[in-house]
Amino acid sequence: MSKILIIEDEESIAELEKDYLELSGFEVEIEGRGDDGLKRALENSYDLVILDLMLPGMDGFEICRQIREKKNIPVLMVSAKKDDIDKIRGLGLGADDYITKPFSPSELVARVKAHMSRYERLIHSNRRENEIVEIRGIKIDKTARRVWINEEEKNFTTKEFDLLTFLAENPNHVFTKDELFREIWDMESVGDIATVTVHIKKIREKIELDTARPQYIETIWGVGYRFRV
Ligand code: CA
Repeated sequence: MSKILIIEDEESIAELEKDYLELSGFEVEIEGRGDDGLKRALENSYDLVILDLMLPGMDGFEICRQIREKKNIPVLMVSAKKDDIDKIRGLGLGADDYITKPFSPSELVARVKAHMSRYERLIHSNRRENEIVEIRGIKIDKTARRVWINEEEKNFTTKEFDLLTFLAENPNHVFTKDELFREIWDMESVGDIATVTVHIKKIREKIELDTARPQYIETIWGVGYRFRV
């Protein structure tokens, strides 16, 4: 089922949107704060985001910009003001569409459906063999940034996903924590090699049956980590 995230602080509007979208067969989640909404959009696998502009914590412009840096899911922006629409266009934020309040629920549903099918076509036409990584029960879809462990989907944060994918794509190679940190985190990132340890721990909790005896990501004492095949 396609999953939609609504980032909207006006509860009545969010609930109305949710009701209509659920009637059309979508799975819908609501987030009322901008900063929390961005976090959720980046850390989970949504098929589309409906984004209000004026939000507590972080505005829709910034959220859209940051989602675009990491994901290619459709973003449908919602605004009450015509000025905002001009600004969305002018900033070239990469929003896929915008809709002005007040809008009819059926119009919203129609737009969502149109973007969803366009996105699915795009994903399928772009998909190449090497964008799926599969190793011993772990399946990583690099295009959709989704991960399944023995057919069960698990949610990974952006960095957890990047780290797992990097290791899985370079199996049997031992990487030091320094190397992994440089590979996955930007130079400007706050943090150090302890960040790598923390992320490895979190990944193991999601992929390993027994984290004390990892079958996938092995610790090579005094050196670093290796993804075993
Ligand atoms: Ca608002």
